[in-house]
Amino acid sequence: MTTTKSYFQSKKIHSLTAIGYWHSIFEPEFPDPAWFRDEEWNVAEKQMVITHLLQSHPLADWTGQSWCRFRCAETQLGSKDLTDGTYIFPEGLVHYLQNHHIRLPEKFIQHVQQYKHIQINFGLEQCVIEFNWWTNQKGWNRNQQSFLAPNDELIENYKH
Ligand SMILES: [Zn+2]
Repeated sequence: MTTTKSYFQSKKIHSLTAIGYWHSIFEPEFPDPAWFRDEEWNVAEKQMVITHLLQSHPLADWTGQSWCRFRCAETQLGSKDLTDGTYIFPEGLVHYLQNHHIRLPEKFIQHVQQYKHIQINFGLEQCVIEFNWWTNQKGWNRNQQSFLAPNDELIENYKH
């Protein structure tokens, strides 16, 4: 027999903070990756964050491949959302660090520095995702911008 207590234990809710979801015509509220460019980012620190992203755990797999907001040659950025137990981010986020000099906010870098590996034993359906912190990130370079869609036709069609 399932008691009320064990029911709630099995449904334990995990709170995850979103990071690395970029703007598009469909989600204009997200930040532009161009605001986060920093070619001077310390190489060792950057590599530590890249390794962290690559070692994170798949939480969901969506049907469509993500596209690069800088429209570079890479068209397969992945379709998964990953988690480290605290944050949730798209599989394609690491591409921006590796190829486009994107530096992530200091709060996330500190999290990675202090991170102790934990076992991810829950699914997306047990998560509540907090988007506000990320949506309010402004980066450090508001003079540059990337693209809102993989090609201009999509942007034009979306306006009409
Ligand atoms: Zn790219």
